[in-house]
Amino acid sequence: MHTAAFQKLGINAVYLPFLITEEQLPQLLNAFSITGVQGFNITLPFKEKIVPFLDLLSNEAEMLQSVNTVVRTDSGWKGYSTDGSGFVRSLSAAKIDILSKKILIVGAGGAARSVAVSLAIAGASDFVIYNRTESKAEALSGLLQRVSPEISVRVAPLEDCAADIVINTTSVGMSDGKCPVPDEIIFGSKQIVDIIYNPAVTTLLKKAADKSIPNINGLDMLLYQGIEAFELWTGTQAPLEIMRNSLIGSVYSDTSKDRD
Ligand code: NAP
Repeated sequence: MHTAAFQKLGINAVYLPFLITEEQLPQLLNAFSITGVQGFNITLPFKEKIVPFLDLLSNEAEMLQSVNTVVRTDSGWKGYSTDGSGFVRSLSAAKIDILSKKILIVGAGGAARSVAVSLAIAGASDFVIYNRTESKAEALSGLLQRVSPEISVRVAPLEDCAADIVINTTSVGMSDGKCPVPDEIIFGSKQIVDIIYNPAVTTLLKKAADKSIPNINGLDMLLYQGIEAFELWTGTQAPLEIMRNSLIGSVYSDTSKDRD
């Protein structure tokens, strides 16, 4: 989607994938520094590991100690985390109101942290968190309270998790056909969000659709994290439809399922 956007705007740039090892991270930054690379994304499993090698962090990246987008600046490499802000933009594009809503976050991994912190920064103030490993849900609850001390956040078992907006941030449903939340929670909600984008319709989303409960998948989160990265690298408004079409073409026609 980035190369399609560069072409559309006549920007002389390309977006290329590099497969590296952890030991190569500092060498990679040196190589990028001397070859004029303007920015890059970094994905699993290096989103946290790159942090010590960067010169600056955005507020969100600082809070999360996790980076997915790096930008060359006059003061060195600056790390950003655009997953969560991209997620919030995807909700806003779908006209999903998060203010004064009870939000259930299912999961407490890297994506959950990004999503929850950005929701709190955007003004969401009532959270319930469920995660298979409860200690990670407690850690996420603590993080949210540090980000925004006035919010309400509790960790609960799934049967005690009724909410207006249910957000699945786990990988349950990606390749196993399973549903991460029980039917009562789905049917009692007003909005279901699954950040999985492949398959486009997970079991969770199908159950919601069958009961006419509004629902969206994670494709727009992926799109908007990319749009935010593009705008950070170029200082130029990203061409939304060009990037969306390019993304849809690659995600749903490419069976290799590259990681986000
Ligand atoms: P992660 O850090 O490894 O976290 C995985 C989460 O899923 C944890 O909460 C984990 O629970 C839970 N989980 C995994 N298997 C489970 C199971 N069998 N039963 C119950 N819970 C289970 O991964 P991540 O980076 O957060 O990614 C999670 C998902 O989000 C993936 O599907 C990924 O593709 C998607 N994602 C989408 C976007 C997008 O742009 N749309 C961006 C980032 C991620 P435990 O803590 O108990 O292990």
